[in-house]
Parts: sequence; C-alpha cells; structure tokens
Amino acid sequence: QLPDTLSPLRGGAAQEGNSRMTQVLAIASQKGGVGKTTTAINLGSYLAQAGHETLIIDLDPQGNATSGLSVRSPVPTPLSDLWGGQSKWQKLAAPTAIPSLALFPGPARSGEPLEGFSLRSARIADLRAELDAASWDHVIIDSPPSLGPLTSLSLAWADAVLVPVQCEYFAMEGLTQMLELVDRANQGRSKPLEILGILLTLFSETHQLSVEVATEVRKYFPREVLETIIPRDIALAEATSHGEPVCRYAPRSRGAWAYLNLAKEILANECAQAR
Ligand code: ATP
Ligand code: MG
Repeated sequence: QLPDTLSPLRGGAAQEGNSRMTQVLAIASQKGGVGKTTTAINLGSYLAQAGHETLIIDLDPQGNATSGLSVRSPVPTPLSDLWGGQSKWQKLAAPTAIPSLALFPGPARSGEPLEGFSLRSARIADLRAELDAASWDHVIIDSPPSLGPLTSLSLAWADAVLVPVQCEYFAMEGLTQMLELVDRANQGRSKPLEILGILLTLFSETHQLSVEVATEVRKYFPREVLETIIPRDIALAEATSHGEPVCRYAPRSRGAWAYLNLAKEILANECAQAR
C-alpha cells in the first residue's frame, strides 16, 4: 500500500504531459559497505511505487542488488551479452515483486565483458541511447566498491551521481576521492555529470562519532548533502537478506520511512528543476 504522503508525486512527469526523459542515476562510492546497494533497491522500489517505471542496473560483480530483489539472471553473463550486442536491455531486464520495478541482473564481471572498453567507446553512447529509447522513467545503477572500469561505466551512462557516505571514520577522505573521480568522469562529456547529492547513511543518533561525521560532511558540502539521512536500522539489512525491498518487508520501520523520504526529496528536486 502506497503511503498517502507519496501520492501527490504519483505519476510524476508522465502525468504532467512532459515528454518522457529517462533519468539515469549512478549510486557510487569506492568505499565498501556504505549502503549503495541498499539505496539502489529501496530508492528504486519507492520510485516505482510512486508510479515511475524504474530499472535498477546491477553493475556489481557481487550481484547483491540481484539477490536482494530475489532475481536470478536468465543468462550467465548479462553485461557481456548486452555489450556484445547478443541481447537488449528490455530482454534482460527481469520483473521484480514490485510492479513498475525491473532489474538488469548481475553478475557483471569486470574483465571479460568489456573487451575493448574505453570511456570514449561509441558502444557506451549506443547503449545509453537504447536505454533512453526503452520505457523507463528512472534508471538507477548500483556500482561496485572500486574506482575500476565498472564504476567508470556506471558514471559514463549516468546523468547524475548519488554518493552514499557512511557516518564513520575516514568518511571525508573517501568522499574527496570519489568527487575527484566524478571530476575525471566529466572530462570530454558534452553534458556534465550532476552530483545529485551526498547521502548520509548508517547514521546512529546515539553515537557521538556518527553525529560528528554528519556535521563535518554537511559543513564542507552544504549544498550537496541531501536533507534525508538514512538511519542504521536492522530492518534494512534483514529485508535485503530476505530478498525483499523494505517497503514490502517492514514498511513501517524507520529505515522504510527514510527511503520513502529520500524518494520524495529526489522527486521534489526534480520537479523544482523542471520548472
Ligand atoms: P558494497 O560496497 O560491498 O557493494 P554497499 O555499499 O552496497 O556495499 P550495502 O550492501 O548496501 O553497502 O550495505 C552493507 C551492509 O550493511 C549490508 O549488510 C546491508 O544490509 C547493511 N546496511 C546497509 N544500510 C543499512 C542501514 N541503514 N541500517 C542497517 N544496515 C544497513
Ligand atoms: Mg553493493
């Protein structure tokens, strides 16, 4: 059941009669375990619940978004097949338990699929054009915890990037490195990669360190840090391990409300930009 608070955003751009445009959002950080996959799954599922046709692309060799949504890839190497032209986005995208939410499954193997991979490859632009021609309103890419070719591919396909930051030691160092990668990804692009936001995750209000890190990140990046903060909530970890988004597993948990608010914040920013 869609909470009432989201219903004004239901249908979004499509209902207002705007021409449909696919927004591709990369969720990326070279740091492991900061909540990239949890964010991809739960942001994606709330966008879909708000009536937006949404695709999550699992670009992580770990395949966590795929198992977290209980999807099994129909082929052993989906990204290779796509890259090599043997298959198409729509054919490989699998339905999930959430209507309007599809998943392009992993595993994405880093070496073999991207033979001849170069960020200037025409294949990247072709596949992005094919993604635009498909019917999704929002595409969310879950990236691996590295600064390697799959993260570069994720950023190359994206219009914007969301960087989750865990409220713990070395958060600022990781963030600076990631923002440098975004700068590099911007070289040679005609349309710059937008930083949609920095998302504070795994926040524990009772832990002084968590509060200090959140304050510090907000101080240095006042415009980039999103208002929504994702609390540490075991319901989020349990949901993924049960292969369900939190909106189905524990819709009244704090984690669920946080991701619902994140979807609202992102849709509201989008509406404001479109005006
Ligand atoms: P990786 O870099 O390995 O891909 P990641 O950045 O995708 O990791 P997640 O897999 O989303 O991070 O989260 C890491 C672990 O923390 C998982 O076990 C997940 O269930 C758990 N987790 C993520 N966010 C939260 C949260 N807000 N509260 C509690 N547990 C969380
Ligand atoms: Mg992950």
